[in-house]
Amino acid sequence: MNSISIEVILGDLTKQNTDAIVNAANKSLLGGGGVDGAIHRAAGPQLLEACKKLNGCETGDAKITKAFDLPSKYVIHAVGPVWRGGNSHEADLLANAYKTSLKLADENQCISIAFPNISTGIYGFPKEKAAAVVADLMKNLLPKLSFVKRIVFVCFDEENFEIYQREFGNE
Ligand code: ADP
Repeated sequence: MNSISIEVILGDLTKQNTDAIVNAANKSLLGGGGVDGAIHRAAGPQLLEACKKLNGCETGDAKITKAFDLPSKYVIHAVGPVWRGGNSHEADLLANAYKTSLKLADENQCISIAFPNISTGIYGFPKEKAAAVVADLMKNLLPKLSFVKRIVFVCFDEENFEIYQREFGNE
């Protein structure tokens, strides 16, 4: 059985030296606020140039670029859903954004990957619900990965940190 470690930390995603970091991007992939803005600032202007070539990204999907000035090798730009009350497939779209990101990391032979709490900032997805979606997905998906051995959930606020510690424990 494939053994994969899951870590939960309170910190800044742009400081992670995992092979890939995942961006909570918007459909344009041309930068935005929150973690997206922080990633573009830390990666430098070449990241925007690389993103311009991708022609945007659908909600629930993800695309990969190099990470330029960031300590990681790749940025995986995932587009989570905007929360619209819960009846607009938000949970499935969120799961798909995480799933596609992990698949892209695995295909690009990344051993380690760091995620922010996608959609739980400006997009308004309730934090408890989002963490439950992620935990559920991990149970099903981890056995299917070949390269990824370490997944880090980088929480930026205490509330998500506590929720994630409860969902995943600290191994
Ligand atoms: P979304 O539009 O998907 O909600 P946000 O960037 O607004 O994206 O928020 C997603 C999550 O990223 C939030 O939990 C927010 O607190 C967190 N976040 C913001 N900046 C950083 C950062 N530098 N490192 C890690 N997480 C961050």
